[in-house]
Amino acid sequence: MLRVHSIETFGTHDGPGLRLVVFLQGCNIRCLYCHNPDLLDREGGKLMKRKEIIELAEKQKEYFGEEGGVTVSGGEPTLQPKGLNKLFRSLKRRGIKTALDTNGMITSDEVKKLYKKTDLLLLDVKHIDEKMHIKLTGASNRNVLEMAKYREDTGKPMWIRYVLVPGWNDEEKYLRLLGEYFKDYKTIEKLEILPYHTLGVYKYKELGMKYKLSKVNPPTSENIENARKILSEYFTEVVVK
Ligand code: SF4
Repeated sequence: MLRVHSIETFGTHDGPGLRLVVFLQGCNIRCLYCHNPDLLDREGGKLMKRKEIIELAEKQKEYFGEEGGVTVSGGEPTLQPKGLNKLFRSLKRRGIKTALDTNGMITSDEVKKLYKKTDLLLLDVKHIDEKMHIKLTGASNRNVLEMAKYREDTGKPMWIRYVLVPGWNDEEKYLRLLGEYFKDYKTIEKLEILPYHTLGVYKYKELGMKYKLSKVNPPTSENIENARKILSEYFTEVVVK
């Protein structure tokens, strides 16, 4: 069983090609900009059998083509590593490619096993500076960097995802620190800049939660272009989503 928030069929945002995207319920950190506060509660969502997800993937398989497949995102999917290991094993047996979108905070053996089964890792690096990472998410980035290194050692591909938040992680010094840190990694195929947005703020009101970045505006196109240019000096491919 997996605790699922929702499923997107024919997703194009989370990994290559056309994808079935499964958003798992529950998260272990609290990013100030999280646009899915409804996914945070580990007890929410609904329980789904792996079989149901596999059936959905089988139905869509003919549209996946060479690149597409199933992405598991969240919330934080690695909170449910046992079920995911089984799911990914079944998908692999059926010739369906897998991607995992994770905040990289969990370093357990079960999660490492899952990384090994994952065709493409989408690793969210929220901030390269540890203190700023703690301010932004409530947790240190040490585990994230450990899991990036672990992925690098497996030799399997990953994309880094970076939510660009004005006044938090868009300064040149932080972008260059990020680039310097990862520039020799061989498994990073791409860096995706995800411009911060406020589309989920209304959910905070609905849930009676306080949105702490209410004074932060989305980055301007110049901010984004500036970040893209700087990061392009370090990463083979940089795209803005
Ligand atoms: S890791 Fe993702 S789901 Fe969890 S709080 Fe951060 S943005 Fe939200």
